[in-house]
Amino acid sequence: MSAFLLQGPDGQQIPYALERRARRTVGLKITADGLVVHAPRYIDDIELNRLLLSKWSWIVSKISLQSERQLPAVQWQDGEQLLLLGNTLYLDVVEDSANRQAKLAGNSLSLGVKQLDDQAHIARKVLLWYRQYALQDFQRRVALFAAKLKIAPPPVFLSNAKGRWGSCNSRHEIRLNWRLIQAPPALINYVVAHELAHTKQMNHSAKFWAIVEKLDPEYRTAEKALKDWSHRLHRIA
Ligand SMILES: [Zn+2]
Repeated sequence: MSAFLLQGPDGQQIPYALERRARRTVGLKITADGLVVHAPRYIDDIELNRLLLSKWSWIVSKISLQSERQLPAVQWQDGEQLLLLGNTLYLDVVEDSANRQAKLAGNSLSLGVKQLDDQAHIARKVLLWYRQYALQDFQRRVALFAAKLKIAPPPVFLSNAKGRWGSCNSRHEIRLNWRLIQAPPALINYVVAHELAHTKQMNHSAKFWAIVEKLDPEYRTAEKALKDWSHRLHRIA
């Protein structure tokens, strides 16, 4: 693999890695390290350059999206900043032989561990706390919305699905992704309203969206915002 520079029509230069392979077409990929080009072994440089320039705007937009979305990995240690209900949550870790459970105090999550450098142990404790907090919060929201719909609150479970915020099955059990607890309340409300509306309508018909709107008049804004928040909500675990 060798490094090259692609000069765009606006003079901007984008470095890229070139891999020559036994293939017929040129493939582009944006990785954490930037642009990677997979080219056929015998394509000439002028032709390759012409082809890359024809994709210039795609490359520029993908690279800026990538750098915008790249968040530093969580350091499971004192002072790390996490998220709770859309606000910053500071991790407050102290050395403590009693090995205390995580506890919320203002905008800090405090916990005691025997070894401050045991990041895996800190991570386990924090994630356990997130799940417990999320379940209580979600149950409360489901109960509030169920009252608006004049139905008994359905059972709520946590999910860990990567690409999904919530689901509702034919037994009217609601599953909500615990990662949502990091998001602003309006976003959680939208997902809760969405899944609760499925207890009445198991589809995405106009009738379904009318129920969602009744429960959450701001749902359109929240639905869009949730997409923008997604990468932040997936920063942990
Ligand atoms: Zn749905």
